[in-house]
This record gives sequence, structure tokens and C-alpha cells, in this order.
Amino acid sequence: MPESCKRGMIIRARSVVTMDGPLIKNGAVAISGDRIVDVGKFLEVSARHWGQEVLDLGEQVLLPGLINAHCHLDYTCLRGKIPRQKSFTDWIRSINAEKSRLSPQDYVASINEGFAEAKRFGTTTIANLTAFPELIRQLPDPPIRTWWFAELIDVRSPNRANDLVDSVIESLKSSQNYGLAPHALFTASKNLHQRCEEAGADVLLTTHLAESREEMEMFRDASGPLYEFLESIGRDMGDCGHGTPLECFLRVTDPSTKRLFGTQNENNWLVAHLNELTEGDFELLKKMKTKFHVVHSPGSHDYFDHTRFPFKRLRAIGFNVCLGTDSLASNESLSLFAEMRAFQRNEPAISPEKIFEMVTVNAASALRQQNTLGRIRPGFRADLIGIPCTEDGDLFAEIVAFEGEINWMMANGKP
Ligand SMILES: [Zn+2]
Repeated sequence: MPESCKRGMIIRARSVVTMDGPLIKNGAVAISGDRIVDVGKFLEVSARHWGQEVLDLGEQVLLPGLINAHCHLDYTCLRGKIPRQKSFTDWIRSINAEKSRLSPQDYVASINEGFAEAKRFGTTTIANLTAFPELIRQLPDPPIRTWWFAELIDVRSPNRANDLVDSVIESLKSSQNYGLAPHALFTASKNLHQRCEEAGADVLLTTHLAESREEMEMFRDASGPLYEFLESIGRDMGDCGHGTPLECFLRVTDPSTKRLFGTQNENNWLVAHLNELTEGDFELLKKMKTKFHVVHSPGSHDYFDHTRFPFKRLRAIGFNVCLGTDSLASNESLSLFAEMRAFQRNEPAISPEKIFEMVTVNAASALRQQNTLGRIRPGFRADLIGIPCTEDGDLFAEIVAFEGEINWMMANGKP
């Protein structure tokens, strides 16, 4: 860290969007080490921190760094490799074929490339699922704040849940922030889901749920291409034909009928997708006392042409919704600005400010970092980005419309 940051410095910009109060024109943020210590009008902040070095970003708006709530950097190298497929199951076959050609070195390079790209687009925190947690030790310290989620699949060995979880926790322990990701109901057994939940109240969990029509067909009707594919590779299909994916998930994560799902570790879950929900599912979601967090990936969603994401209904019943890029095996870039625009195209009535919340405060809260990330507030981490602005109209509209790489950033107090 440069000496100036350790001592403290002031960053001035035409405007500061704190996500914590009104827009500050001719604003400034004072930082010391990895923390924000002051924010306000430039003249006031510089008077309070007299003598500190000032970095003037000029005609830019200073923003909290963006938070990607769902990503798989393992597959950065698969950008453009898998053309749109007829079915979700065909895509799984294609990605499996691509993966069989990759070596551990390819994955290491892919993850590093992904970090660099995410950073160029203003992401300062990422929730990254990796199928290879054992590779984390071979990587340099991530250039941005990272939650490593070990992606777990036991479809071919459903009796190994305990060993699997123990061994990935061993690999993850060296990381500051980690979690577990039973991949999906169709690839991770009930035991594996439960074992992940038992890993501890402080362990964040994520999974893919109710993503595709084929997943709905598989669980509700015990039929369809995904059902046939998984049956052909030897999966026990006994859990199919008994309800929707959401119903199965709630049963799996709450095996005890003594408690309602929503009273224990549900706040630990970041649930990706939730595109396929029936009216009965919405009734269940309404009844949940404490709700899991939902991650929507608009770019990947468009790639697969999934059923419309029920944003308004989920929000109306109190779900915290954030955005993620998903992997480049089903998306074109790791830019959250591009994700915000893809979301906006489908939900033009949602204000740009509400959209920006999905990559800042909402995502911070999903990672249980609502008191350290997602806003510019004294005591919060010094994760900041600057982008050019003219403020001719709605500033948040201008932010969401920003294209390209960002001009300036600081992650954890490091420029
Ligand atoms: Zn994913």
C-alpha cells in the first residue's frame, strides 16, 4: 500500500454518490488505510483533514465499488466458445465437453484473467464459485475482495457428502472469506445440501435453483431432457415427480417439519436464478419468515432465453435481489454495468437508482457486509470507483449507461 494511503488521503470528485444520503456535489472522501474515514463537501472534508494529499478525479462521479453476487471465474476462458443451444441440457453437455479439454493451469489462468476483467469494469467485490478450491493456494492474492464458494457436485458419488465438504473446507480455510455452493438440486444430493448447512452459521451458502424450464419438468413431472440426461448418467431420480424445484429445495434444506424454513440458516443462502416459479411456489415464498437472498444474472438469463425473471413479485414479497454476471460460458463480459443495462431492458419501469442498489447495497447485504460494503460511509471499506459524468439528466441513468472500462478505482484502500 502506498505511504499516502496508510497516512490517509482525500479523493475529490465532481459528485459523490454515497448510497447513504443525497448526492454530494464537489464532494470528497477521506480514507485511511483500508477504511473510509470521512465523506462530505470537499471544502469541509479537506478542512477536517488538513494537510493530507488530495487526489482530484475532476469531472467524475465517485461511487461505491460494485459487487458481483454470482460468478464462475473458472470459465472466463470459455467466452464465445459455446453457441446458444436448443436446450439447457445441451448446454450442460457442451460445457462438460469444453471442461474436459482444460487443465488446472488453464483454470488458474482463467481465474486470473477473470479477476483482471472484473476489476477493469469496476467490480471491487466478487462472490466467485469455483469447482477447484484446491487451486486457490496456487493463485496470487485476488486483486479484489473475494468470497470463494466451493462448488460441490456429488451426482456420481452421493455417499461422499461428508468427505467432500470436509476436504473443500480445508482448501478454503486459507481464504479470508469463503462459503459453500452445492451446485444445484439436480447435481448435489440432499445429504450434500444438509452437510453444507451444518458447516456453521457463519458459512455463506449459494446454489442454482429453478433456473430452467427443464429443471421444472424434471422435478415436477419426472420427465424431459434434463431428467433423461441425469438418469442416463446414473443419478437416483427418486426425488423427481414430487414437486417443483423450490418445493424440493425447501424440503431438502429443512428436513425437520418442526421448524418453518426461515427460522434457522436461510439468511445464509444466496439463491441464483429462481426463474421458474409456480403460483404455489409464490405462496411458499410469501410464508417464509426470513428470506434467502436472490441473485439474478440478466446477461446469462437472456443467453438461455429463460422464463421471465419475476423481479417485481419477488421484490413485492420482500426478497433482496442482487445481480451477478454468472460465467462467460453463458455471458459476454464480466461488467456489472452491462448486467444493469440488460436488467433495465427487461424492467424499464425500475428506476436506475434501484438498479444500482442491486450491485451495491443489496449485494453487500446478501454477503452480510451491510455494515462494511456497498456504501460510502465512515468506517466502511475503502472500495471506490470513479466514472466520468456530465449530470445533464438523471445521474443514476448516466451511471447505468456507462460503457467501457472505468477510469479510476480503489479496492481495500489500494489504488
Ligand atoms: Zn452460476
